[in-house]
Amino acid sequence: MTCEHMEIRRERMPEGYPHYEKISCLSCGKFLGWGKNPANAAKEKANYDKAEQLKAVAANDRIRDFLASVTKQDGKLSHKQQAWQNSL
Ligand SMILES: [Zn+2]
Repeated sequence: MTCEHMEIRRERMPEGYPHYEKISCLSCGKFLGWGKNPANAAKEKANYDKAEQLKAVAANDRIRDFLASVTKQDGKLSHKQQAWQNSL
């Protein structure tokens, strides 16, 4: 997903669109990928870090399995999973 040009252009996608921003080459316009919402990226990192910490003190296998899935998903959680992790 690269081209020989170096400079990229970030274009914010409309509200409700599944992707946050479109990244393309400034010179030739080639599509290079989708950018993450920085707010979501921070939340996912926090989820990941918290799961890593909680793994060491997990009370049972069910919680341990859940935490393992959190790190496997890079902290990207469903609403249900997010609620569960917040309760731990
Ligand atoms: Zn290019």
